[in-house]
Amino acid sequence: MSEPRRQELLRRLPSVDELLRSGLVRPWLERLPRRLVVGAVRRVLDRTRRTILRAPESELVSDGELDAHLERELERALREVGSYRLRPVINATGVVLHTGLGRAPLARVALQNIGRVASGYCSLEVDLDTGSRGRRTGIVRDLLCELTGAESATVVNNNAAATLITLATLAAGKEVIVSRGELIEIGGSFRLPEIMAASGARLREVGTTNKTRLADYEGAIGPETGALLKVHTSNYRILGFTEAVPLEQLVRLGRRHNLPVVDDIGSGALLDLSRFGLTGEPVASHSVRSGADLVLFSGDKLLGGPQAGIIVGRKAWIEKIERHPLARAFRVGKLTLAALEATLRLYMDEEQALREVPALRMISEPDTVVRARAERLRRFLGGVDGLEWVELAQDTAYVGGGAVPAQGLLTWTVRVRAKSLPEDGLAARLRTGDPSVLARVQDGCVIFDARTLNDSEVELVAEAVKLALQPRADAP
Ligand SMILES: *Cc1c(COP(=O)(O)O)cnc(C)c1O
Repeated sequence: MSEPRRQELLRRLPSVDELLRSGLVRPWLERLPRRLVVGAVRRVLDRTRRTILRAPESELVSDGELDAHLERELERALREVGSYRLRPVINATGVVLHTGLGRAPLARVALQNIGRVASGYCSLEVDLDTGSRGRRTGIVRDLLCELTGAESATVVNNNAAATLITLATLAAGKEVIVSRGELIEIGGSFRLPEIMAASGARLREVGTTNKTRLADYEGAIGPETGALLKVHTSNYRILGFTEAVPLEQLVRLGRRHNLPVVDDIGSGALLDLSRFGLTGEPVASHSVRSGADLVLFSGDKLLGGPQAGIIVGRKAWIEKIERHPLARAFRVGKLTLAALEATLRLYMDEEQALREVPALRMISEPDTVVRARAERLRRFLGGVDGLEWVELAQDTAYVGGGAVPAQGLLTWTVRVRAKSLPEDGLAARLRTGDPSVLARVQDGCVIFDARTLNDSEVELVAEAVKLALQPRADAP
């Protein structure tokens, strides 16, 4: 092989037009906009040309290999432009609120309500009785007050926005006192000190990482103080020699000094989940009852609704927050409100919420039910060629999304090992398959957790495994 061989390969590359007329590409022109197909073809040709130019001489391919390579790459590129980038996936990871997978799946009524409301016009900001213009957040205000016992409520884009606008409204240019044990980071981009800085409030840290006493807060209060902030340490726990100030005491201190007390509870459970073994997760209504002036939480964590930041508490503060210029920047759209209203209505009947809010169902499902689902999956997988072994195992699932980090949920999994594919190879094929399946990889196995699957997904997972194990030319 020599330099002329490289030139020969480049000459052999077909043109975009030739490919568009070829039997491989032409059928795609009937299914997809020409612009998408041309773009994909062009990218494959460019990539291949670069590969030929850069490849060491010894690796230059034969003509036949070049054709096969092009065919494979075109097929892949066309399939890719032909499908959505945001795709549904089957979550077999056992992490219920998986931020990478979109956190809480929505309840069926929430989806129906989005369809009902968003395919045409809707009463987003118009009071249909009077015809007057109002605030869109009024749509969920009464429900949130009813469910949390608060005087008033509002909704913004997410809990990070809720924290930012609350601090900006209450304490811009002033100090906000926070325990050093509560300076949290949630998933990289939410770091409390940075949110504080962006709000224009100044962080006044008190106490130490493991111990903060009431006297520490009290000693820091002065003419510059704008608010007292308590933050739930959602994604970590400080254990051992520790001390923190209960909300009730902080509230009493705030009252004495005429300072608002803000409680960022993070996950925002509307129900007490301790009966399902999840303890230490604050419940919104408890926080309100303890006297916090404002309570902040996410809509898509334990509440099980759409991404949103919910602020409940004193009417006067909520009104001020809604008048802040950031309210417009952080406001939620009609899709969010449609999903949130429907989800909150489910909570008017606790049992219904546990059945129909998917995140709650997964968390509260008895392990006998989870085990039966795992057994069904094992039976399906037992018949799949290419698996070396298939095994039922008890394991631990997690709530995720920065909630109850130290406590797992008892769960049942199916562990598999393929005969001729390493575990991460199998996991990669499952991830890129259709439907895409995300599983855990551990101890040399691929592990499917039945707690985050629903009954209709069991057979789909088995089918996906079967497909992933079929021999293929372009094995990764
Ligand atoms: C998750 C969390 C946040 C961030 O909420 P998002 O809705 O993801 O913006 C803020 N504070 C606490 C305590 C949290 O747990």
